[in-house]
Amino acid sequence: MVHFLNSCKTSLFLEINKRNFYHMLFAKKELAYSNKIEGDVVVTRADAAINWIRANSMWPMPMGLACCAIELMAAASSRYDIARFGAEVMRFSPRQSDCMIVAGTVTYKMAAVVRRIYDQMAAPKWAIAMGACASTGGMYRSYATLQGVDRIIPVDVYVSGCPPRPEALLDALMKLQAKIKRQRAMSCLLQQVWTHIRRLHTPT
Ligand code: SF4
Repeated sequence: MVHFLNSCKTSLFLEINKRNFYHMLFAKKELAYSNKIEGDVVVTRADAAINWIRANSMWPMPMGLACCAIELMAAASSRYDIARFGAEVMRFSPRQSDCMIVAGTVTYKMAAVVRRIYDQMAAPKWAIAMGACASTGGMYRSYATLQGVDRIIPVDVYVSGCPPRPEALLDALMKLQAKIKRQRAMSCLLQQVWTHIRRLHTPT
């Protein structure tokens, strides 16, 4: 928690003034440190700063279960450059992941595993159902196949197609970024802290 608040504090007090900030945004120059802007302060809302940090550093948990996973792998190649979204760091550890990308057919056999890995991810966390199979079961209307991964985990964005192209996954990431930027991060955070404090002080 302390580490997280410190990182937010650092972002809040970026030493950039408004004029130079707009100049950097629209001048189509590479954003880099400039000693000319030293000493100035930009003021923003905590929500905006936290959401900006979260939306641009979504570390995916690649849940590749079938053919859609090949397209997921392609999205990480240099041609599609998923690093533009800060999402190139594919973590195979749920404790280091923010966004589960379910790519492929979810069988009942795997459903329990998917759910357990999702539970092990730290909040805030998001999920993308990539492809027809993950979204709805696809063509597998069978006793062995889960008819949509949203039956076991909350899904934020659905990607259509069989298989969807890597561009469709990048589009989903952009939609997820837009969703994250609308969230009320600070009030959720305070609510969680308050709930935790109350739990600590509730007699058992
Ligand atoms: S949606 Fe199509 S490509 Fe993706 S896992 Fe299902 S069958 Fe394979």
